[in-house]
Amino acid sequence: MKTLGSETHKSNTLKKLARGPKDNEEQRSLELSGHVGFDSLPCQLVNKLVARGFCFNILCVGETGIGKSTLMSTLFGRTFENEEASHYEEEVRLRSQTYDLQENTVKLKLTIVHTAGFGDQINNEESYKPILDHIDAQFEKYLEEELKIKRSLFNYDDPRIHVCLYFISPNGHSLKALDLITMKKLESKVNLIPVIGKADIISKNDLKNLKRNIMNELLSYGVQIYQFPTEDEDVAEINSSINNCFPFAVVGSTDDVKIGNRMVKGRMYPWGAVQVENEDHCDLVKLREMLLRVNMEDLREQTHSRHYELFRRCKLEEMGFKDTDPDSQSFSLQETYEAKRKELIRELQHKEESMRQMFVNKVKETEAELKEKEKELQERFEQLKRLHHEEKKSLEEKRRELEEEMNAFNRRKVAADTLMGQALQGCSQQPLKKDKDKKK
Ligand code: GDP
Repeated sequence: MKTLGSETHKSNTLKKLARGPKDNEEQRSLELSGHVGFDSLPCQLVNKLVARGFCFNILCVGETGIGKSTLMSTLFGRTFENEEASHYEEEVRLRSQTYDLQENTVKLKLTIVHTAGFGDQINNEESYKPILDHIDAQFEKYLEEELKIKRSLFNYDDPRIHVCLYFISPNGHSLKALDLITMKKLESKVNLIPVIGKADIISKNDLKNLKRNIMNELLSYGVQIYQFPTEDEDVAEINSSINNCFPFAVVGSTDDVKIGNRMVKGRMYPWGAVQVENEDHCDLVKLREMLLRVNMEDLREQTHSRHYELFRRCKLEEMGFKDTDPDSQSFSLQETYEAKRKELIRELQHKEESMRQMFVNKVKETEAELKEKEKELQERFEQLKRLHHEEKKSLEEKRRELEEEMNAFNRRKVAADTLMGQALQGCSQQPLKKDKDKKK
């Protein structure tokens, strides 16, 4: 980060200034005859940074309902509105909220990222992936800004995750497989701090055993958690003592409870109250002290110098950049860029060719399928045509037979009519003959 980079660079410069220039042939130490004024440099630097403000980004990983949101509100002493978590998320989703905070003259842009649905799926194998993707996406954004021609890193709001609070469930004897896998994946990406959430729901004895078991497991699986720095003598003592307190057992609450005459933040139970800011009750004060008051700058610096640096190195190597080897020929950025460009063009051509081949094959396959279908249809058509022809022929046959029958019938009818006519004629002549006989 330019901000951090600049800060580190400036603080190194200040240290060097304090030490004075090295005595060698080119550099000479000179005594000043009076006050010049550059001893105000640290103040100038502080004023500039204070005016700009700071960014701090916290990632909370843990199952739904373990107390992530409550702990954030308790840590910062204000309620952060947060979407109600559901146990029925289909996959792990990361939700981030940014808040502008101010304490005295110091402005802090705080981003809290929550993992919704973590640990809620039946198959949790891939639950760590969206988290890693989110962390990498923030590094990527920063790298993009760094590589811009017109970059403004000093005023850029650093999106990178500075610390990950990993919430461990107090129910159980140690870590779950999901915890181990996720923490192992996260260790090289982010400053990892394990905490036991809702530590008030187990007894002190169980909590002690749980803490011991967790640390043993982390150790045996080689999970690297963040260590508070002990190089700076001002904080060496407190940091090294707190380094033995992992994982922090925390209790969160934004409610006020009455203890004697005082109102304190806590959780009220029929058998008494848990005071979240009482060090005998939980480690919240230790966590706040370490996270916000003593080591916030180290967390930001570690993010930049360790985690981001690793990401940047891998990314640039992937892009074909490499550092100059003192023994080999010096390389130019232009050459690297050209070589990478050619490689990408080759890859693109290769992909284009294979896609074209794939397309041709697909067309051929479809053509063959169509031909096959056409052939089938033609056969079916011929068969139907034959059937139709046969049916037509048999109908013709039947029609002819019927016509013959009709003709025969007509002939018989004519004959019958003629006979009937003759018979009638015979009958009508007989009465006349009878009348004639009578007259005679
Ligand atoms: P998240 O889903 O992890 O963000 O969990 P929340 O912070 O929303 O807390 C879920 C529930 O647990 C709420 O009812 C809280 O009041 C309660 N809770 C939060 N922290 C603690 C704690 O430290 N101890 C106990 N006993 N309950 C807590």
